[in-house]
Amino acid sequence: MKAIQMCDLQTQYLEIKSELDVAMQEVLDSGAFVKGRQVTDFARHLAEWLGVRHVIPTGNGTDALQIALMALGLKHGDEVITPDFTFIATAEVVALLGLTPVLVDVDSSTMNISIDALRRAITPRTKAIVPVHLFGQCADMEPVMQIARENNLFVVEDACQAIGAEYRFSNGKSLKAGTIGQIGCTSFFPSKNLGCYGDGGAIFTDDDELAARMQSIANHGMTVRYHHDLVGVNSRLDSLQAAVLDVKLRHLDRYTVLRQEAAAVYDEGLRDNPHLLIPARAPYSTHVFHQYTLQLKDIKRDMLKERLAEAGIPSMVYYPVPLHMQKAYQSERSQKGCFPVSEHLASCVLSLPMHTCLTDEQQQYIIRTLNLLTS
Ligand SMILES: *Cc1c(COP(=O)(O)O)cnc(C)c1O
Repeated sequence: MKAIQMCDLQTQYLEIKSELDVAMQEVLDSGAFVKGRQVTDFARHLAEWLGVRHVIPTGNGTDALQIALMALGLKHGDEVITPDFTFIATAEVVALLGLTPVLVDVDSSTMNISIDALRRAITPRTKAIVPVHLFGQCADMEPVMQIARENNLFVVEDACQAIGAEYRFSNGKSLKAGTIGQIGCTSFFPSKNLGCYGDGGAIFTDDDELAARMQSIANHGMTVRYHHDLVGVNSRLDSLQAAVLDVKLRHLDRYTVLRQEAAAVYDEGLRDNPHLLIPARAPYSTHVFHQYTLQLKDIKRDMLKERLAEAGIPSMVYYPVPLHMQKAYQSERSQKGCFPVSEHLASCVLSLPMHTCLTDEQQQYIIRTLNLLTS
């Protein structure tokens, strides 16, 4: 059996090497390493695939979030609500811009932002909500959008882990993650569901004015060359990454199915294990399984992780420390104990290997070993 990896990018590359090598060679031959035609081609293809008017490529997902927030015209001290249980980038950009991150607890089954907690966190200073579609499943966007409308708030979706996930509204309409709020952001970090071979990210929006502003901010606040109307940043996707992404986008639907099939195999093998919970599926969203994340019930996580590693099975803890317990993010509003669900999740989650090249043999071995070690 081939060694098991959390995320196997080499095998995935080899499967589509011929397509990728041609695309990358074209960039090398063209010499247009930045602002090549590949960047605009990819942005157009992704916009079509998402069903959104504008895709603005950026240097990474964190920049995408930062540029999105910069475009909203918020003022120092304005409050931006984010879930407490997420990757740090979601709240980091809020703090970095001098805005106030207001953390809220998450739902214990979906691990996404709690709608009740969100409602309670709104104050007259709240200006935006940044819901995160954690691990590949959409946050409950219908009530999020409803709350945003009622309170005149922007919604910037952090879809870094959920490209391709679909949210179903109660009227039967579906929209892709990142195309529901005014702005959506994603990351093309190599291990993400649509990953490049370096850093990359993108912003999605249907709003022409916001699109123009974000495009300008990403390019030094420039519209006409060397005329800077806004304070911006330098954040771009390079041509090589765009070439890789344009090829991989053609495979993304297939990759999503492979992840969903792998998740179903894990479900089947682990569902009856009384010591853990398999990932819950929300009725309103598909799940694209950026991660397959278990909640352990009565097992010592560190010990289990070590035993698994000894058996050649990598596992990861996303995330071991909730945001409000991070040194840089402590405030009077968020002491230990104030987000019990998030704290509980941080203590009990464990993610198993998840990628598009898992074999049934590997998965059966992981399932057998995990069931044995927890019995
Ligand atoms: C990966 C990720 C980001 C940041 O993306 P980078 O490309 O690494 O900057 C932001 N939010 C979430 C939830 C992520 O998973």
